[in-house]
Amino acid sequence: MKLLAAIGPCICEKCYEVGEDVAKRFPESCEPVKGSPGKFMMELALAAEASLIIAGLTSSNIDRLDICTSCGDRNQFSYRASNGDCGRQLSFIGF
Ligand SMILES: [Zn+2]
Repeated sequence: MKLLAAIGPCICEKCYEVGEDVAKRFPESCEPVKGSPGKFMMELALAAEASLIIAGLTSSNIDRLDICTSCGDRNQFSYRASNGDCGRQLSFIGF
């Protein structure tokens, strides 16, 4: 079986601050980095990649765009960056 995965735009580890309740739900391989008191900075793309590897994919079959929806390209919608006043985005893959 040959399975490929792509991880599209998402919030980066510099922008994604969560409480301990959310941080503890990430895979063990995603080490939480302390943010402001009681908060942690988490890497969502790494969590997705770790989940795919746990499911059996190899890292060579996973492609990451590493585009932050919050601090990156302004053509991406970000709920956090816009304080909830934003659009929605869809992603498609074609061959
Ligand atoms: Zn960011």
